[in-house]
Amino acid sequence: MLGEKPLNIGDVGNDWLKGVNMGLDGGTMFGPVSKVLWAQRCPADAENTILMCNDPHNIVLVDTGLGNKLTVNQKSIFTVTTPWDLPGGLTSFGIAREEVTHVVFTHGDFNHAGGVARLTDIGRIELTCPNATHFLQKKEWDDITDHDPRAKSVYLAEDFSLLCGSNLEVIDVDEETCPGIKVRFSGGHTRGH
Ligand SMILES: [Zn+2]
Repeated sequence: MLGEKPLNIGDVGNDWLKGVNMGLDGGTMFGPVSKVLWAQRCPADAENTILMCNDPHNIVLVDTGLGNKLTVNQKSIFTVTTPWDLPGGLTSFGIAREEVTHVVFTHGDFNHAGGVARLTDIGRIELTCPNATHFLQKKEWDDITDHDPRAKSVYLAEDFSLLCGSNLEVIDVDEETCPGIKVRFSGGHTRGH
């Protein structure tokens, strides 16, 4: 877990929201690398944390966590032990989800971006932050919409189906999403990280 204390940088205040508690098979993340090796450097951490940045004009989420659309079977596979409640987390800071202005995704894997859309009580799928602009790297968006075999297993189409037009901004490499917050292309474990 990254931490729970506010992290203020310049004029931008940063708070942490809990995404959900879950477990991922390290083998999934490290592929052919033996657990004996990766566990020495990366002890498993089941926390999945969301960063919230805010200044007088903007409320920016970095990732949206797992979301609430997984089936019972999927929750069991991923050892989800607490329900995802991003709206409730925002409310604890006195913020309504409709007030979020920017959602910046580190990448599109479901445990980071599944909460982009949420399942309502009446079974509809809607954007969690309906008034926000959502930012994704172009490489990542290309892979999300490409439907290659790897992408299909980690990028869930329904997560991104509501992103289009003015609520989506596909960025190319390094870009400032709003004053004081700049994203950089790092090329992590996905091509568009
Ligand atoms: Zn990932």
